[in-house]
Amino acid sequence: MGDEVTEEREQEENEAADGPTVPQEGESGPHSGEGHGSPDKSAKQTEEEPAPRRAEVSNYEIVEHWFTVAAKRLELPDDIAAVLRSSYREVQVQVPVRLGDGKVHVFSGYRVQHNGARGPYKGGIRFHAEVDLDEVRALAELMTWKTAIVDIPYGGAKGGVNVDPSKLESRELEAVARSFMDKIEKVLGPQRDIPAPDVGTNAQVMAWLMDEYGKLHGHTPACVTGKPIPLEGSLGREAATGRGVVQVFKEAAPEIDLDPGEATFVVQGFGNVGAWAARLMQELGARMVGVADASGAVASGDGIDAEELADHVRDGGEVTDFDSGAEQIDPDDLVALECDVFIPAALGGMIHKENADRMQCRMMVEGANSPTTPKADEILNDKGVFIVPDVLANAGGVVVSYFEWVQNLQHFRWDEDEVNKRLGEIMRRAFHEVADRAKENSAPMRPAAYELGIERVVEAASTRGYI
Ligand code: NAD
Repeated sequence: MGDEVTEEREQEENEAADGPTVPQEGESGPHSGEGHGSPDKSAKQTEEEPAPRRAEVSNYEIVEHWFTVAAKRLELPDDIAAVLRSSYREVQVQVPVRLGDGKVHVFSGYRVQHNGARGPYKGGIRFHAEVDLDEVRALAELMTWKTAIVDIPYGGAKGGVNVDPSKLESRELEAVARSFMDKIEKVLGPQRDIPAPDVGTNAQVMAWLMDEYGKLHGHTPACVTGKPIPLEGSLGREAATGRGVVQVFKEAAPEIDLDPGEATFVVQGFGNVGAWAARLMQELGARMVGVADASGAVASGDGIDAEELADHVRDGGEVTDFDSGAEQIDPDDLVALECDVFIPAALGGMIHKENADRMQCRMMVEGANSPTTPKADEILNDKGVFIVPDVLANAGGVVVSYFEWVQNLQHFRWDEDEVNKRLGEIMRRAFHEVADRAKENSAPMRPAAYELGIERVVEAASTRGYI
């Protein structure tokens, strides 16, 4: 499997290198050297300016590892496992966009539909300079298990564009979103595949995607979720992933005899998920003693006010220019802060074999997708850290996306309390189903969660006659 993946990637990279060459080398305008706009597609550009490697394995290898562990325990026959570990459909498209420098820049866009046995494909769209097929494939597979673990009627998908949105003007970002939708709309739709926000995208991007889809298909709010409220977005969707993180934390706290209101916590990544998780943890009475975003990290034993920091970030600020009296620390030292709960809420692979041993938390609740490599997971389990895995902990977003879709199909709106109450019911039920399975197996939560998800997908796929 690994060799096949490598071969496929090499083929894609070769194709990318042979692709259209606009603009010509040396002709780039103000956007040159900023992660896009080279003669090659942006995937190649990322290779020229390598980002620091976070983990010893890729996101895909992380998901593959956990699938393999669970498949073995479930004694899945090899032929069935082969179907389940591969994607149903992988689309790679070019996203040519004329930027403010007057030139056409070509980005790479991806949509991977992993498994649709339990319902339409569902998964976010990521705009980030490091997006590639391997990452999108991994995240799509993760969505298949996640939707099954929380038992909502969806399959798994993911999409992304290899672009750094922080380098684009708003109208350039809009052009990227619209161009991407034009290239992938044929494989999308409310009964087929429904995108949502992820890293680098938000409600505004979803509005543009919906509008572009509507030009071809008529007004179809159920074609994407995570939309702004006036465009039939769901109340409670923006906070949902962070809220789900905190809901499962509350269920998990007794496992380590922790009073949630007395807890100290650290958040890595203060975007949508991290900021909402932090605010809701603070509402419980917990204290944030460290926080990081892409600009750097700060720590304070007295606590950093999550509400005020969230306001500051919403106004365009960063964690490191927030005037709270907190001490600036090396971002690499964030993991070593003493705390009860560590919440990774940035990118994949940030807890790896080089830093896991330095962690001092008692519990980790994974807001991010694949933040922990298998080796780091092993180290943390040996240290006795209780881990609530991503496939369970960050499922709140897709659960409320499901509510949004249900509301859109009926053109009906639930109030926010109703959304939050239903979200809590699903997250609590899923937590206890996974925790019971883990106890039965005398194993940690992560393998138990994968087993539960895989079992449900196998049952649906075989009952339908797909496998
Ligand atoms: P976001 O873009 O809103 O926020 C990402 C945050 O991470 C930003 O604050 C960014 O500055 C920070 N960051 C980037 N690099 C960092 C680094 N090296 N160190 C520390 N911080 C860094 O994205 P988001 O929607 O909050 O998603 C965060 C994670 O949660 C991703 O892994 C995503 O896949 C996952 N997730 C998101 C949702 C959702 O509903 N948004 C749902 C499930 C899972």
